Amino acid sequence: MAATTSTIAGVSTDAAVASRRITHVTHPLVQHKLSYLRDRDTPTVHFRKLVNELTLLLTYEATKDFPTEPVEIETPLERMDAQRISGKKVAVCPVLRAGVGMLDGVLSLISSARVGFIGMYRNEDTLEPVEYYVKLPQDIAERDVIVLDPMLATGNSTSAAIDTVKKAGAHSIRLIAVIAAPEGIERLTTAHPDVHVVVAGVDRELNEKGYIVPGLGDAGDRLYGTK
Ligand code: URA
Repeated sequence: MAATTSTIAGVSTDAAVASRRITHVTHPLVQHKLSYLRDRDTPTVHFRKLVNELTLLLTYEATKDFPTEPVEIETPLERMDAQRISGKKVAVCPVLRAGVGMLDGVLSLISSARVGFIGMYRNEDTLEPVEYYVKLPQDIAERDVIVLDPMLATGNSTSAAIDTVKKAGAHSIRLIAVIAAPEGIERLTTAHPDVHVVVAGVDRELNEKGYIVPGLGDAGDRLYGTK
């Protein structure tokens, strides 16, 4: 799947892309689906399906460096050495609530993954993320962790969610987001340079309310029809 660099004014997005900490997936299928996701006229029922399909495609990209090992199998015709994913197992950790809309997309490809949940809200006085719920697999330290958060906006809550999985022992971490703002990329890659970020869109900026522009609006509201 092709992944290319974008030019985003002002912030070191290109450096992040060039150093491969960020993979911006420009595959036509991804961009096609993203265009419908962004469209204000796309109804909840289609929005949900598109998030699921996009996450599946981004998971394909996010897992492309999983190690494989040869296993001897028998086809109906003869013995052969085939390749299977080796090593650790996966933990998928959606950030509540919008990240939950991405969960099935990962599980449809990695059905044996364990699931952890991280609940965050923003304190409107301090603008800092506050963790209100965490339930992670006990053996998360031995797993490849995929954090799901569709909108990498300021990067504050996503960064805090990654702090949480690291505190629980995780050290192999990927983040799948649908759209990122340059500010979020900067914040996340500075705080967590070891985390590989995979996104479908890198947008222009954040507005004064912290929304990604042009973006797609409030991902949670559009997923769950709450507005
Ligand atoms: N969260 C959203 O749902 N949308 C944005 O644009 C930013 C944060």
